[in-house]
Amino acid sequence: MSEHKKEEEKSLNFIEEIIEADLAAGKYDHIVTRFPPEPNGYLHIGHASSICLNFGLTRKYPGYTNLRFDDTNPVTEETEYVESIKDDIRWLGFTWKNELYASDYFGKLYDFAIVLINKGLAYVDDSTSEQIASLKGTPTEPGVNSPFRDRSREENLDLFMRMKNGEFPDGSRTLRAKVDMAHPNMIMRDPILYRIKHAHHHRTGDEWCIYPMYDFAHGQSDSIEEITHSLCTMEFIPHRELYDWLINKLEIFPSHQYEFARRNLNYTVTSKRKLLQLVNDKHVTGWDDPRMPTITGLRRRGYTPESIVDFCDRIGIAKRENLIDVSLLEFCIREHLNKISHRRMVVFDPLKVIITNYPEGQVEMLKSEDNPEAEKVEYRDLPFSRELYIEADDFMEVAPKKYFRLAPGQMVRLKSAYIIRCDEVIKDENGKITSLHCSYIPESKSGEDSSGINVKGTLHWVSIAHAVTAEVRLYDRLFRVEDPSSEDGDFKDYINPDSLKVVETVFAEPSLKKSRFDDRYQFLRKGYFCLDKDSNEEKLIFNRTVTLKDAWAKEQKKN
Ligand code: ATP
Ligand code: MG
Repeated sequence: MSEHKKEEEKSLNFIEEIIEADLAAGKYDHIVTRFPPEPNGYLHIGHASSICLNFGLTRKYPGYTNLRFDDTNPVTEETEYVESIKDDIRWLGFTWKNELYASDYFGKLYDFAIVLINKGLAYVDDSTSEQIASLKGTPTEPGVNSPFRDRSREENLDLFMRMKNGEFPDGSRTLRAKVDMAHPNMIMRDPILYRIKHAHHHRTGDEWCIYPMYDFAHGQSDSIEEITHSLCTMEFIPHRELYDWLINKLEIFPSHQYEFARRNLNYTVTSKRKLLQLVNDKHVTGWDDPRMPTITGLRRRGYTPESIVDFCDRIGIAKRENLIDVSLLEFCIREHLNKISHRRMVVFDPLKVIITNYPEGQVEMLKSEDNPEAEKVEYRDLPFSRELYIEADDFMEVAPKKYFRLAPGQMVRLKSAYIIRCDEVIKDENGKITSLHCSYIPESKSGEDSSGINVKGTLHWVSIAHAVTAEVRLYDRLFRVEDPSSEDGDFKDYINPDSLKVVETVFAEPSLKKSRFDDRYQFLRKGYFCLDKDSNEEKLIFNRTVTLKDAWAKEQKKN
């Protein structure tokens, strides 16, 4: 289906409906969205969904999207994360209008706080966090006013300035909004706007020792940037009231918050905090380990940006949280790789075949189609000679009736080459098979076959003298259970111990010597592969991106 057709057939999601209504009503002539990551880790597949949503909307409607780093927490944020986030968004194919940092607004936010104090809508509280919590009440019982709630404007201004000037230790005072301690929404019970934290910030250094809380930074940043539609995940629904209250009291640009459901994938975790634990505890080799659900991990694994965007499009957005089946992500990458992969032959577990009627020393360059799905037909050279490797499990000495691979007396086609027949099984003194003696049918050459022989099996193979060796890394799910975060105990107890299988030496057709990092390969009958960054001049290393078929779904059905 063409992209265009797909677009036409899709009905609007609820956010698009809101935007179309706003544009139709003349509320805006263009829209502004933002993607607001906290730079405290690498982006994962859930973030990809948010990126596709935010940037996708301003592709579809007039307007633009900002990239805003939500860097108001000085302790967890790092420049490495900022760079990786930019890299991942670019790789997905999106361009932001402005690169912004919530920390750039610290001055403006401070001024907003002064406005609230002047309006009698904020006060400095000397209570400890425990005292504040104890007076907060419960959803069914009202809270109790803080003894510091009725401080004078002058005293509040003085104390807040001294908080800023570093006169007080961490945790000794906060600035709180004066809303209503009996409010049915607990978040509205005099929320904390500022806390004291003598900590170094990755951008502002030691300039500040008071930092705004999320609720006092996010909506205000949206407003400063004149964001029209501020999209966030469902856990922020109860915060919307405060979001609107602050904008309203400050009389600043009326941004609006809309919520959509978090997208989580099964058999993995999508939380930067948990992913960081996997990295720190060395359960994986890093944020870009090909088993990680991070964008950088998926990229190293061989995922294409197209496949990830397609996946996000297909899952769309929703108002209710659910676990998305990773099989859908795998379906999307198979679809794309089937179109773009170069076909190659690689033998993982070799069994030697000697073509006894093929002259010693003779080499024939066969042509094999590079990718039957490609628009332009291209061929690659494939050397054929007397001694070949086939896959050990493509041979059975005593074969059942419907076995169409190689067996004594039986014929198969070697892909893009000839039909061969197995004449004799050669064994060592222990009875172990060491090679097969076969004969080839000279008239059966692929593309010009006049032998009249029909065979059912086609095997992949390589010429031993020409083969190049490589290492392959085969991946499985990182976790044994669908939703490790909801299981009892620590999520790390559910790690799949067999998520990586390394095959140290496989035998590949020589064209793979020239593999490139950006290229994608289908190893016939083995799956889709890409070159791993650990490769070097001496050693080729391939990652299996995904198997050819969904073996997992089949397995599940059996159980
Ligand atoms: P994490 O728990 O992984 O740190 P987060 O929500 O704290 O996630 P942020 O950096 O704050 O991470 O998120 C940036 C944006 O991405 C936010 O708008 C957030 O709502 C969105 N987002 C994060 N995780 C998901 C997810 N699983 N599905 C959809 N959107 C997500
Ligand atoms: Mg967050």
